[in-house]
Order: sequence, then structure tokens, then C-alpha cells
Amino acid sequence: MSKEELNCSFCGRPKPQTQLLIAGLDAHICDKCILQAHGIVQEETSEEKSDKSFDLDLHPPKKIKAFLDQYVIGQESAKKILSVAVYNHYKRINQTNIKSEVEIQKSNVILVGQTGTGKTLLAQTISKFLNVPLAIVDATVLTEAGYVGEDVESILTRLLQAADYNLDKAQYGIVFIDEIDKIARKGDNPSITRDVSGEGVQQALLKLLEGTTVNVPPKGGRKHPDQKFIEVDTSNILFIAGGAFDGIEQTINKRLNLQAIGYNTNKELNKVDAENILQYITPRDIKTFGLIPEIIGRLPVLTYMNPLDKATLNTILTTPKNALVKQYVQLFEMDGIELTFTQGALDFIVDKALEYKLGARGLRSLCEAILNDAMFELPESDVKSLKVTKTYAEQKLVKIELPALKAVS
Ligand code: ADP
Repeated sequence: MSKEELNCSFCGRPKPQTQLLIAGLDAHICDKCILQAHGIVQEETSEEKSDKSFDLDLHPPKKIKAFLDQYVIGQESAKKILSVAVYNHYKRINQTNIKSEVEIQKSNVILVGQTGTGKTLLAQTISKFLNVPLAIVDATVLTEAGYVGEDVESILTRLLQAADYNLDKAQYGIVFIDEIDKIARKGDNPSITRDVSGEGVQQALLKLLEGTTVNVPPKGGRKHPDQKFIEVDTSNILFIAGGAFDGIEQTINKRLNLQAIGYNTNKELNKVDAENILQYITPRDIKTFGLIPEIIGRLPVLTYMNPLDKATLNTILTTPKNALVKQYVQLFEMDGIELTFTQGALDFIVDKALEYKLGARGLRSLCEAILNDAMFELPESDVKSLKVTKTYAEQKLVKIELPALKAVS
């Protein structure tokens, strides 16, 4: 066969019409077909990669909790309940591949506890463990469609963004809705004090929580009217709602007292731990607070966060994998400076956080305030070590006003 008669065995182009014709054993391939084949290979392998980029293997609850333990101090009950909920949630997703008459319902979660006790941190740590995207949204900015504010669909826009617009990833993601208590209707009696906007948002959230297909504007609602909508299925999205539910302790107390009158032979009730009333919370209390029963039904896993005491705050400061003290030590180390804290300084920081009622959130702003001068001055100096004592911390802090601290927290 003369050279001129050679053809590409894939597209049939004769050699003169190609830039390159590579010979195999019994066949030839031209440059165009190589490029095309390369494209196909890339597409296939990248699809495989994106499928595997989120690991939906089932992790047993104990493993999930052990991971949470590395980042979240205390909150044993919440961590245990959340670990089981997450495990069941992903079991439910896997079940869709199995033929069964039993349909497992979603295990969306509601976390009740004061601000700064680790609710957001729990959601963040779960998403880190599962390697799924997380959207953190504030319920207070949500409004019913047609009102000023964000439509509930904006939640899914955030999730898409967190997933880098990978729809598959987003559909297995986690949404943390903060301040869910702020959309409660005021009072338990809908016919008398009806808070239309709050209840409207609750109504709008229902379908999302349960699982539905929503047309989502990928860039967010109203500013980009021309964008193409993306259809997002929320059936496999795990929703975690958090809120402080200020004043709910009274409701719980009242209920416990009523029960105590009714069944005062019940010894269990004598053991009520008055320091931490939240642990007795039930869905009924949430309803009395003003969430509609339909919402409560779609957030079936209810748990609570303990208030943070001195010992817990101390541990939070020093122990978790990315504890604040460890972070600052590393920051200074990068400038070749050895940073240490005396126990007295650590106790002082914890006491101030408690005094200012800033919770764990305050620890960060206090550390920042105490170390700011050093972080500004030391990088270009000859100083090679800094020991933060109680006196040092006190001196740095007198210069800072409390409102300034609150602003950073
Ligand atoms: P919440 O969502 O309950 O208001 P966050 O989870 O945002 O509180 O907590 C604020 C910060 O305080 C977190 O970034 C974390 O550093 C710290 N923090 C709060 N609670 C804990 C905890 N139980 N364990 C470790 N760190 C915590």
C-alpha cells in the first residue's frame, strides 16, 4: 500500500486530509480522532471523579461521633443524637436503591441551645466528615415570596454555590438554618395572635424540608431575572435547624410542674436538674413556642445544647483539633515566635468570656484583643518568644471597650 492510500481507521479520512496519521498494529488514527478520543476519555474519567468526590459510604454513628469529639467539646447528647440522625439519613438515601415497602422518612434535625454553644460548629463538622457541601442560612432574612427579603429558594442557591454548582453534590448536601426560632408565630393560638410573615415562611419551608423539586435561580433571586433555573431535588438534603428559643425554659418548667402535680408519685420527676432545663425539651414545647406542627413534624429529631461552663470553655480554648490557642501558636510560629499561655491567662480569658456573656464566641474576640498588639509589632522585631500571662492579658484588655468586643464576636 502506498503512503497516499492510507486512511484513518476511525473516520475514514485519507492521509492528505489529516495533519498526522499514527499507525497501530492493523489500523491508523488521525489527529482529529485522537483529539476527540482524548475528550471522551477526559469526560468519562471526570464524571467518575465527580461521582467519587463525595463519599457516601455509610459511617456508623460511633465513628461519626468520634469525629465530632475531635472538634466539638461536651454536648454529648447532641452529638450522639446527631450521629444517629446522620447515619439514618444516609441509610435512607441508600434505601432508595433497595425495593422495600417501608419508606424511611427524613431525619432532619432541630438543635435548641443558647448562641455560641456549638450548633453551627456541629453542622460544619458533620459536613466536613461526610465531605458534602454545607449552606448556612439565617431564617430571619427569609420571607414569603413577594415580600422584601429572600425567598426560601435562596437557601438552595447557597447550597449550589457551596457545591461549586455541582448539582449532584448539592443534592446530598446539608443546610443549616440558623435562628429558626425567630420565625415562630407569637403565641400558641393561631386565631388570636397570628404572625403572618413568620408563619408564611414556615409554610414555605415545609416542602423544602420534606423533599421536593424546586426551580432554583443559580445566582440568587431577584437581581438576575434572565438566568436559567436549575432544578434541585431536596429529598436527600439534610436540614439542621438551630435556635436559642429564648424563654422556652419557662414553658418546659411549666409543663414539668403540671406533670409533677398530676403524677406526684413519680420519683423521676423529683430528680429534675434545674440547672439545665433544656434537656427535658419535647416537640410540644417547640409548638408552644410558636413553630407550626407541620414544621415540627418535618424536623423530627430534636436535641439540645448545654450551656458552656468554665471547664468546658477552658477545654474549648485549648483542646479541639483546631483550638484557638493552637491556631495562635501556629500563627506566631510562622513568624518564628514561640507563643505560650500561662494557665492564669487562660482562666482569665474564660472568666471574661463568662462575665461578658459571650460564650465560646467571646473566646475568639478576647484572644484577638489580647494578641493584637503583639501580632502587629512582633513580626519585624527580634523577639523570638511571647509568654501571655494573666497580667499581660489584663493590660491589653483594659484598652478595649466591651462594645468593641461584642462587635467582633
Ligand atoms: P451557635 O451556632 O450555637 O451560635 P457556633 O457553633 O457558631 O455557635 O459557635 C461559635 C464558636 O464557638 C465556634 O466557632 C467554636 O469555635 C466555638 N464553640 C462553641 N461551642 C463549642 C464547643 N462545644 N466545642 C468547641 N468549640 C465551640
